Amino acid sequence: MNRRELLQRLAYVVPAGMMFPSLLQSCAPKDPPLKSVYDGKVIIIGAGISGLHAAKLIKDQNIDVEILEATSLFGGRIKVNPDFGDFPLEQGADFIYGNNNPWYSTVEGTGISLVEIPKNPIYFVDGQAKTESELSSNVDFQNAQSFINNIVNWSGPDLTLENAVVSAQIPQNLRFIVEGEVATPRGATYNSISIKGISENLSLWNDGDGRFFSQNQTLVQVLGNIYNTILPLIKFDTPVTNIDYNDPTKIVLTDANGGTHECTKLIITVPLAVLKAGDINFSPSLPVGTTAAWNRIGMAAGMKVTLSFFVNFWNKQASSIYTDGYAREYYAAGLGRSNSNKVLTATIMGSQADALAGKTDEEIINLLLADLDTVYDGQASHQFNMEESYVFDWSKQPYAKGVMSYPLVSGTGAAQAMAIPVDDKIFWAGEATALNGNEGTVQGGIESAERAVAELFDLILDL
Ligand SMILES: Cc1cc2nc3c(=O)[nH]c(=O)nc-3n(C[C@H](O)[C@H](O)[C@H](O)COP(=O)(O)OP(=O)(O)OC[C@H]3O[C@@H](n4cnc5c(N)ncnc54)[C@H](O)[C@@H]3O)c2cc1C
Repeated sequence: MNRRELLQRLAYVVPAGMMFPSLLQSCAPKDPPLKSVYDGKVIIIGAGISGLHAAKLIKDQNIDVEILEATSLFGGRIKVNPDFGDFPLEQGADFIYGNNNPWYSTVEGTGISLVEIPKNPIYFVDGQAKTESELSSNVDFQNAQSFINNIVNWSGPDLTLENAVVSAQIPQNLRFIVEGEVATPRGATYNSISIKGISENLSLWNDGDGRFFSQNQTLVQVLGNIYNTILPLIKFDTPVTNIDYNDPTKIVLTDANGGTHECTKLIITVPLAVLKAGDINFSPSLPVGTTAAWNRIGMAAGMKVTLSFFVNFWNKQASSIYTDGYAREYYAAGLGRSNSNKVLTATIMGSQADALAGKTDEEIINLLLADLDTVYDGQASHQFNMEESYVFDWSKQPYAKGVMSYPLVSGTGAAQAMAIPVDDKIFWAGEATALNGNEGTVQGGIESAERAVAELFDLILDL
């Protein structure tokens, strides 16, 4: 395989969604790695999916590579709750979105059972829990659904989703449906996410249909299996605080423990909110084009609250419950993977999460139970199982500081600008730099790594 063929395999010819399976096979005996002609060293910051995947691609070419990870775990925003026994309770990424993308193919390829989640939502409308068919004659509900289905065709001005909903005259009491179905899965509330940005991403989306759960393995276990050769290359508990790239021949990184690390090329995969917070100092300062791009992409607070009950009192077939209360969406996390299906996971994003930030876990849980009680006649509190209930607040995680990136008004082109390498030395991966309409997803992280490594190889591999 020559250089050109390698680059074609990485990014330039093979469609993005099809790249990952072929790359994973690139270390098979019949297809030996290229003999490395690069004698420098690559450091990757972050051992989430983007960092692990980038490291694998680089190691496969016999190039010296190391990952510096701030925490004592790999996976980043793929994180399981180890205390929960019934099924894999994911605190970060849980759904595999779409059946035509590198994450889906990989998980499926490992032989893990996948559960396709039926679309069977419940909505709290007029103080009652109603199914889609029970709302079929509600004209306002049908208008809200048709608004959602037509976002992909949005040709109006660049507005927040909320302003677009108002101008579409969706009545106040049904706006939560649009917010819950469109903004919540993207880690935002509708007062800040851009309808134009969502529309652009939906137009680019080529990742397939459906939502899937891994039935019996945690996603971190999946990562551990796929990237087992990469795990020894991770230096844990090493939060990078300073990056000095003044010297033309090397980059010097300093960590919070006072250690220093040298490399010739650097790939940064840390979450956007960590970069925006200024937790990593750059010398010289980054180009204005890079930092200006950060500010045109959103990443907000968010939490997942797992509520366990002694019985399923809502509806065993329900996939999600959408409400106008403290959580826009509760999803049935045990659907298809727990016999009892007695767990609801509240996803609370953006300004709704900010509003709960000062409260204790118990206070948050009580507010959610009170919301559910109003519709289910007090059954939520009555059947509540405190022992198996958990609050996980992503904004309190120092190396995430939020949930996932999402498009802001006037944000067109920001991810592309953020992804531009700096001085042929610093390369950007991470879900916020995914360019195929799938930022904020696991496959977005994989594709960002493939792009960043292709840019790197274009510079350093000269065969
Ligand atoms: C609540 C929630 C729900 C989600 N749901 C889904 C879902 O259902 N489906 C889906 O596809 N996606 C989902 N996502 C998004 C998905 O988890 C992310 O898009 C993806 O995991 C991001 O991977 P990444 O490698 O880009 O970043 P991360 O996983 O965040 O990895 C970055 C790594 O960098 C490390 N780091 C940070 N700062 C430093 C530093 N200074 N020095 C060294 N290391 C550092 C972090 O510790 C972390 O390990 C969800 C995310 C959240 C939070």
